[in-house]
Amino acid sequence: MKAVQQFFKTFILWELLMGLKLTGRHLFSKKVTIQYPDEKTPMSHRFRGLHALRRYPNGEERCIACKLCEAVCPALAITIEAGPRESDGSRRTTSYEIDLFKCIFCGFCEESCPVDSIVETRVHEYHFENRGENIMTKQKLLAIGDWQEAQIAEDRALDRAYR
Ligand code: SF4
Ligand code: SF4
Repeated sequence: MKAVQQFFKTFILWELLMGLKLTGRHLFSKKVTIQYPDEKTPMSHRFRGLHALRRYPNGEERCIACKLCEAVCPALAITIEAGPRESDGSRRTTSYEIDLFKCIFCGFCEESCPVDSIVETRVHEYHFENRGENIMTKQKLLAIGDWQEAQIAEDRALDRAYR
């Protein structure tokens, strides 16, 4: 009896019909494909993208060179050199570098920072073309911070309950 059933199913292309049934079910359902990069999917305010160093509204850099982020980084991606600033003697970084080839985007650095200076932004569309561009220098990080400050502040406000 089973052999007859099998023969009948083969005769009427049963498996093909089953496949077409599945295709038909999805033909008119809501599409999940988006036309990236013209369309974007929603992004969490806690997304961990490219790093940035933030400033206070008066332009003063937040970082106090405590090196907590350097100490906590599991990938040893952060290298900081620090010293007293010439103008007022306050402790500041003279060099702050993140090697993005080492970074695993764990977010520990931003969690450890006592002054909310080093953060990870929503920026995820970037690439490198030349050797050495993977090193994010203090100047580059501050520039990203200046560029993204409005979005960073908005995301921090949303995150306040968690923190
Ligand atoms: S995100 Fe993690 S791995 Fe990357 S620099 Fe920060 S602490 Fe290091
Ligand atoms: S970024 Fe934050 S944790 Fe890192 S050295 Fe500066 S103040 Fe300290």
